[in-house]
Amino acid sequence: MARNIARTAVDTVRWVGHQLIEPLRADDELKNFTLSIPETQTTTVDGDIGWANRPPAVVNCPRCDSEIQQSRSIETIDCPRCVGEFDAEEFAALELLYLQCPVCGTRMEHGNRHPNTIDVPEWATCERCRYHWEFEHF
Ligand SMILES: [Zn+2]
Ligand SMILES: [Zn+2]
Repeated sequence: MARNIARTAVDTVRWVGHQLIEPLRADDELKNFTLSIPETQTTTVDGDIGWANRPPAVVNCPRCDSEIQQSRSIETIDCPRCVGEFDAEEFAALELLYLQCPVCGTRMEHGNRHPNTIDVPEWATCERCRYHWEFEHF
C-alpha cells in the first residue's frame, strides 16, 4: 500500500514536471532555431538568406486580378492570363499574396521588421516543415 502511494506521488511530480517543461522547451527550440540560421548549411533546419534566395512568390496581377507566380526573385513577373508583365524590380509595387515554401510547397507565414524602410517581406516561415527564409542576417 505504501509503495503504491509513493509511486503515485512520483508519477504526479513527473506529470507536473512535464507540463512545466513543455513551454520552456518550445522557447528553447525557437532560440536555437534563430541562432542556427547563419549556419543552415550544417544544421537540419532548412533555410535560406538573401533576396536572391527568396522563396517563390505569388502576387496579384493589377491588370486582371489573377495570381502570378514568380518562382525566383530575379525573374520577370509574367501574368499567365493577360499581357501583364512586370520587371523583377517592380515586385514591391505589386500586391504580394503569399510566399510558397520551396521545400514542401505550403503557403508560408511572412512579415516585415522595418515596414517604413523596406517594402518587401523580410522573413518567411513554413509552419509545416520549418523551412525559414530571411532577407538578411540579423
Ligand atoms: Zn493579368
Ligand atoms: Zn515547408
